[in-house]
Amino acid sequence: MNRDPASGSTLPSSAPVVVIGAGYAGLSAALSLHEHGVPALVLEAADRVGGRIRTERTSSGVLVDHGGQWVGPTQRHMLSWADRFGCATFPTCDAGEHLEVWHDGTLRRYAGDGPEGAPGLAEYAEATRRIDALARRVDTANPGGTAEAWDWDSETVHTFFRRTVPSAPARRRLDLAVQGVWAMEPREISVLHLLFYVAAAGGFAQLMDTRGAAQDARFVAGAQAPALAAAAHLGRSVVLGTPVTAVEQGAGGAVVHTPAGTMRAERVVVATSPPATAAIRFRPALPMPRARWLQRSVMGDVAKVHAAYRRPFWRDAGLSGVASLYTADAAGVVFDNSPPGAEHGVLVAFVYGDRLRRWSALPAVQRREEVLHTLDRLFGTEAREPVEYLEKIWPDDAWARGGYAANPAPGAWTAHGASGWREPCGPIHWAGTETASRWNGYMDGAISSGERAAREVLEALR
Ligand SMILES: Cc1cc2nc3c(=O)[nH]c(=O)nc-3n(C[C@H](O)[C@H](O)[C@H](O)COP(=O)(O)OP(=O)(O)OC[C@H]3O[C@@H](n4cnc5c(N)ncnc54)[C@H](O)[C@@H]3O)c2cc1C
Repeated sequence: MNRDPASGSTLPSSAPVVVIGAGYAGLSAALSLHEHGVPALVLEAADRVGGRIRTERTSSGVLVDHGGQWVGPTQRHMLSWADRFGCATFPTCDAGEHLEVWHDGTLRRYAGDGPEGAPGLAEYAEATRRIDALARRVDTANPGGTAEAWDWDSETVHTFFRRTVPSAPARRRLDLAVQGVWAMEPREISVLHLLFYVAAAGGFAQLMDTRGAAQDARFVAGAQAPALAAAAHLGRSVVLGTPVTAVEQGAGGAVVHTPAGTMRAERVVVATSPPATAAIRFRPALPMPRARWLQRSVMGDVAKVHAAYRRPFWRDAGLSGVASLYTADAAGVVFDNSPPGAEHGVLVAFVYGDRLRRWSALPAVQRREEVLHTLDRLFGTEAREPVEYLEKIWPDDAWARGGYAANPAPGAWTAHGASGWREPCGPIHWAGTETASRWNGYMDGAISSGERAAREVLEALR
């Protein structure tokens, strides 16, 4: 046993499998292994499980999800966890009319897919149909092996839109969609990555839409509830506050280093985000494709800002609380994030990409003022006086280092993806949403990646 002099906690000196990270991916790997009779010890750096999912009960009694929150009907891994752990969901509230603020300040109110006759809408729909058709050609098990991979991975989404979408208003709509889904700018990701991600979700509308798609439902007890239930099920096999600093391969397995001591394991599953993985020292150094893949996988830049009110007052005016902003405001999109029922009203604003880079540099008072000003413009003066105002700026999170997920830079899929994406390195296996072929970047992808890594470990131990 190792004893950490600071915390007094003890770690066993060995375990058949060590899992690094207690986000959805690490918990899923450990659960699968336990179910197959293989004890796995999960080492988590933070003082909580859930990783990029964090639910907080605020002082006014509202539950807010600072990170991931929505689940869609085709996300069967996530939904089966919800069932298994008795975590109820409820439909996202989007009843009423939506708002869009065009870049020239025009405010449009609409129902359905978009404001009828608004600039660029038809051309946008046409472009998304073309994206879907191209995405169907991507090999989601090996995106870099797709026939057109070299061309698609050499072009950014920005230049692709300029080349293939003549309508400037449609390009504005596409740009906001990319910022909203990837938390990055179109110039920062390749066409191949965009198409892979669309294919992994089952289509562009699956990423964008609410009803029947990725934003379909939320968890009554918050999105962290299934993670907390899984950790409770694993009991003492989850050790918090234990960052892994190094993994050393040796005869018969690996030695995992933490400030609380070292542990031997036959197999290690690394279930941390790519930048968090790159911060772990591997000895010997990881093979070049894996090392480069990690270095070139860049986290998105996103913040969620919640404003809680005594009631969802915008519903009185027939508004859904959903708004898209093509302006220079910090918020790109706003949703009604109220709990079920009408007891409290909560709006959530997403700030991402270049918007976040500008806004997050402002003093806290100015950040708040700017977001509340936007909400006022959208929903009226009542929006100015929230009972609570909460921000979570994910690039500042010590362990996630950004969100929603990491996206390989242009050229990375074709240069390093074949073996660098998720091929095991000796006794080290890779999990994490970024390694998923289905719903990559989402909680669902994290869970399936943990199950896949567990299958690899079971095969290796057999
Ligand atoms: C703002 C935001 C909104 C999102 N919205 C949605 C949504 O609505 N729906 C959806 O499905 N997904 C959403 N996502 C994405 C989703 O949160 C992630 O895909 C998913 O949580 C990733 O899980 P993971 O287990 O792969 O990684 P993580 O959750 O990052 O887990 C990795 C764990 O490893 C730990 N760790 C890091 N370094 C070390 C170390 N050295 N030693 C030990 N432990 C370490 C971390 O603390 C963390 O707990 C959102 C994400 C964000 C940030």
